[in-house]
Amino acid sequence: MSIKNNLNTIKSELPEGVTLVAVSKTKPNEDILEAYEAGQRAFGENKVQEMVQKWEDLPKDIEWHMIGHVQRNKVKYMAEFVSLIHGVDSPRLLKEINKQAKKYDRVIPCLLQIHIAEEDTKFGLDKTELDELLESDTFKAMENIKIVGLMGMATFTDDESQVRREFAQLKSMFDELTTKLNDITILSMGMSGDYKIAIEEGSNMVRIGSSIFGARNYS
Ligand SMILES: *Cc1c(COP(=O)(O)O)cnc(C)c1O
Repeated sequence: MSIKNNLNTIKSELPEGVTLVAVSKTKPNEDILEAYEAGQRAFGENKVQEMVQKWEDLPKDIEWHMIGHVQRNKVKYMAEFVSLIHGVDSPRLLKEINKQAKKYDRVIPCLLQIHIAEEDTKFGLDKTELDELLESDTFKAMENIKIVGLMGMATFTDDESQVRREFAQLKSMFDELTTKLNDITILSMGMSGDYKIAIEEGSNMVRIGSSIFGARNYS
């Protein structure tokens, strides 16, 4: 199967209103261009330097999504162009994004990453930390970031009911957030292995890599 065929198959299965972010981390520019030529514009990367390099090399109408864990000292490299930062998991990171966005006179859309998985290796805020962040004066004073929704990753397990439960938990936090903030529109959940469950549980943005580009080689 080609990248183009994989992409078209997945797109034809996605319900209306669900946005596809093609996760191109570790993949070469030629693979991204193949997806681009098939009409894909939103791409997800998890390393800032790699995303910057690809932004420089590839067509300028690509929307770059930062889906990985972000170190504060790297924010400055992507502040000029990043379209959505999915993995915001601390007030300090948000503050740095706000500061760097200001330098470019931009408002950077961000998702808060919520810890829903059982594994404690996955990053994210818990419910208490989310509430604290939203109620803090520093958050309320930030003018160069906009929280537009939530992101989460389910436990990596064959237990479908657990994955479903975790996604449902994130959806209910998302619904609650829409009553507290304006502009909450994006619920980013679901990857190659679990995006169908995520959509059934209310996701409207899926981040799919290996089902489009094939398995990644990290060696
Ligand atoms: C790598 C990655 C994905 C895509 O994973 P696949 O299983 O290849 O679809 C999605 N979200 C995040 C945060 C990732 O790091």
